[in-house]
Amino acid sequence: MTATAVAYSRILLKLSGEALAGDKGQGSVFDFERVGRFCDEIKEVADMGVSVGLVIGGGNIVRGSQLSKNGMDRVTADYMGMLGTVINALALQDVLENIGVHTRVMTAIRMESVAEPYIRRRAIRHLEKGRLIIFAAGTGNPFFSTDTAGVLRALEIEAQVILKATNVDGIYTGDPKKDPTATFIPELTFQEAIVKNYAVMDANAFGLCKANQLPIIVFNINQPGAITRVLKGERVGTVVR
Ligand code: UDP
Repeated sequence: MTATAVAYSRILLKLSGEALAGDKGQGSVFDFERVGRFCDEIKEVADMGVSVGLVIGGGNIVRGSQLSKNGMDRVTADYMGMLGTVINALALQDVLENIGVHTRVMTAIRMESVAEPYIRRRAIRHLEKGRLIIFAAGTGNPFFSTDTAGVLRALEIEAQVILKATNVDGIYTGDPKKDPTATFIPELTFQEAIVKNYAVMDANAFGLCKANQLPIIVFNINQPGAITRVLKGERVGTVVR
């Protein structure tokens, strides 16, 4: 299948750090079986001719807000969080390259002996050459999240959609784990999400999507083939636009 036959030819996939840790609980930073499964899916998408930017979180290693609640300086804790995303990016790169996906890691904090610095025009060139980019170190700034980094990079590389991978099927009227009456919402507008206070992404990231009319698809990464189905134009997860 060529890129012309798919619903989107350039996507930004946002994967949380916790998705890499699996269910093995604390102390286990990576569940490589799970990481392998995600990477197989990502390869399938790359093989469809779709250009893929991947923003990886760091919640399986460090969450700045959590450490600062425990008494650490917030800015230091956030830099630690950003470094955590670089560790995740290198793990993903290794697994993806092992299955034949050409990748580049680009970091928002310079560390040239580890990975390339993020330079927008160079990133676009990599995509044009068919390389998958893993964007690491978030936005490079404390007080932000990797969701915001995801939206920022999506806009910069002119992705047509941001796919936010989560552990639930999409957006519900309440927390499905706590509220049995919560119902699934297949589609909503930016405005509805704001009015009804649905947590799609953090407020900064969401505001950036809304201001730039960048559609968000929130889907369950544990559903096999979900990303491929989105690209085939099937209804998967919740679409916010
Ligand atoms: N972070 C940051 N600036 C950014 C992106 C991330 O300071 O632009 C820090 C922040 O401390 C955050 C941590 O890196 O808690 C890990 O990122 P995030 O919590 O977004 O990861 P995820 O929840 O997606 O795993």
